[in-house]
Parts: sequence; C-alpha cells; structure tokens
Amino acid sequence: MGRLLEFVVAHEVGHTLGFQHNMKASSTYPADKIHDRDWVKKMGHTPTLMDYSRFNYPAQPEDHIDVADLIPGIGPYDKWATHWGYAPIPTAKSPEDEKSTLDRWAREQDTTPWLRFSTSGSQGSDPGDLTEAVGDADAVKSTTYGMKNLERVGSMLLGATTGKAGEPYNDLAEVYGRLLGQWVLEMNHVAALIGGFESQQKHAGQQGVRFVTVPKERQAAAVKFLNENAFKVPAFALHADVLRRIEPSGVLERLKISQQRILTTVLNPARFSRLVEQEAIDGVAAYKPTDFLGDLRKGIWSELAAPQVKIDAYRRNTQRLFVDAMADRLNGRLPATDDARAFFRGELRTLSASIREALPKTADRATRLHLEDAQDQIAKALDPKFIRPVAGPVVPLSTLDSDGIDPENCFPDYAIRLD
Ligand SMILES: [Zn+2]
Repeated sequence: MGRLLEFVVAHEVGHTLGFQHNMKASSTYPADKIHDRDWVKKMGHTPTLMDYSRFNYPAQPEDHIDVADLIPGIGPYDKWATHWGYAPIPTAKSPEDEKSTLDRWAREQDTTPWLRFSTSGSQGSDPGDLTEAVGDADAVKSTTYGMKNLERVGSMLLGATTGKAGEPYNDLAEVYGRLLGQWVLEMNHVAALIGGFESQQKHAGQQGVRFVTVPKERQAAAVKFLNENAFKVPAFALHADVLRRIEPSGVLERLKISQQRILTTVLNPARFSRLVEQEAIDGVAAYKPTDFLGDLRKGIWSELAAPQVKIDAYRRNTQRLFVDAMADRLNGRLPATDDARAFFRGELRTLSASIREALPKTADRATRLHLEDAQDQIAKALDPKFIRPVAGPVVPLSTLDSDGIDPENCFPDYAIRLD
C-alpha cells in the first residue's frame, strides 16, 4: 500500500510541477519491452508517471519481473521534461533567448519516441493515446497477454476473496465485477485501432505529417480479435462455482452490459466517420467502412454460416446487441445522417437475408425463435412505421465520448482514482 500511495502522490506532485497527463506515453515503448525484466527495471513499463498506465497487466510469470517493478515509477520522460522545464540556461539573457536551446532539446523527441507527449487535437483518434493501457504499441498482443492473466485470476477468485469462516461473499462479487471491467477495458484498447491514426506532434520544419492512418491489416486484425475474444464470452467469466455463490441469476445481463460497452466503442460515430474519410483520402489502402461492418457482422453472427445452426444464450444476447446498436443509430435519439445510415441499413438487410437462409438449418427451437425475433427487429428498424423505443439498457452512442467511455463514469472499475 505504501508503494501504491507513493506512486499516486508522485503523480500529483508531477501536476504541481506543471506536467499535464501524457496518456500516449505508454504506447511509445515497443510492446515486447514491457516483458523485458531489465528494461522494466531501468525504464518502467511506461516512460512517465503522468500517464494512466497503472500496473503491468500484460506481464507474464515467465517474464520474471520484480513485483516492485509492476508499479510505475519516475521514468525517462519525467526526467527529460523536468530538465526541459527547469534546467537553467545561463547564456540566455531573456526568456526569448532560451527558445533556440529549448527547441533543440525538444527535437530529441524526433529520435526518442518515449520523450513525446500526446498529440494536440488528435480528437481521440490515436490508439496509443489511451487511459489505463500498458503495452499499447501493440494492443492485440498486449491484450492477448492480459487475457492470459484474466484466465489465471479467474481461477483464483474464490480462494483469494474468501475470508474467515462465517464471512459473506461480498468480496467475491466485487472482484468478479472488476474482472469483467478489466476485460472490457483491454478490449476497448483493441477497438481503438479501428479507424485510428498514429500521431506525433510536429511543427513546421519537422519531417512528415502529424496523422498517419493505422494500416488496414492492423485494423482488420483488431476486428478479428474482438470477434473472437470480446463478442464471444470468455471461459474465465463463467466459473459456475463463482457465479452460483454470487447470485441466482444476473450473469447474462452482466456479460451483455460488458459487451455493450465494447460494441459502443467499436461503433462510435466519430470512429465510423474516420473510416469513411480514411477511404476517401487513402483509397485502396484504407480499411473500407463497408468491409469493417461486414467483418463485424460475420463475426458476431458466425453461427449462421455453419451447416447446422445453434446459438447459445450468451451469443443470442450478443447478436441482439448488434441489431439494437444498428437500430439505435438509425432511429434513436440522434439518428445518423451520414454514410452510416446507408451502410447500417445495408448491413441489416444483408443480415436479414442471411438469417432467412439459416432458418432451415436449425433444429433448435430457442435458436429459431431468436432468429425470427431478430428478423422482426430488423424489419422494425428498417421501416419507420414500426419504430418504437428500443427497450433495454442501450446507452445512446451520443452520450459517450470518442473513446466510447461514459464521461460521467470514466473509472467505474477502480477504487483508487487519479486526478
Ligand atoms: Zn493526474
């Protein structure tokens, strides 16, 4: 606890020295370095205390990182930025005289990425500019490692949260909720790659542009990863011996809300607009928004392509979320007026046709009823005569910020909150 307080206090002292948050910092380290025991000991898993890059969650037991090094400390960015801000320049006779020396020091950022600061005006488009991310130079890789740890932790929950005989299971319920929260958090780091831009703050005289499109292969890989790890319920969330000690029912709803938070990030209107614009400017090099929607639909509705169609209760929930999210963008409080309207309507028509083809392939009554209901809901979404308020806990996309995070509730899963 002392080390944790030390970390938070040092961060707040950073603010008193004039430093703003640098949420991009953690992504400036190569993703494999945060598994390197010697690197982490010397450099930390993030170059600054001023990032929200709390604990090294991708680290694996075989990395043999010292426990003390799992917590951030003063890093190379902090020392460099303190020097830039506070080192005396004896030859300068006025503040203006200092500028050429300060600019020369600042140019070290061109060759040393971890001295850089978040890019101004990036509008939430940079997948490295994230809170609570570690190893986000490669979010797919780091989240894959993070999932391995969630699996480990999932099997420890019961033992780790069970107190002395006679005590209730309150801690188990709380920590299980946090397990799901961490899953959502790490999946949202992957979602940030879609329609993303790698960015670097530059001024006139520096080489290159400020915003570079995330290559389409990386964007498509992010969607594939989410289809397999976010829109299918992971085994670590489904230990019956844990769930049946917490509540008689409710896990389906917990998982649905978790997946909804991820889908909301994925289908964020600003993200979709960037995809449309990336295709307009980058042409064939772009991850087309129509390809993105098709990949997402085929992943979330993958059962439809099987020779025999059977869809379990978890996936029926996930698939309803997909239709509800599309319907909300078409007919919700702030209906889409851009390409999203046409593209989302097209997805729903294609999905309806796929469901029609799949219906004869199912012998399972629950699956058949689900598919028929989905067809009805799609018809309602496409035909305004049938519009009615979307039931359930759909969070209107318009109330969320560009990272898909509810601004009123940024850190629901953390007890210690940084300012
Ligand atoms: Zn702060």
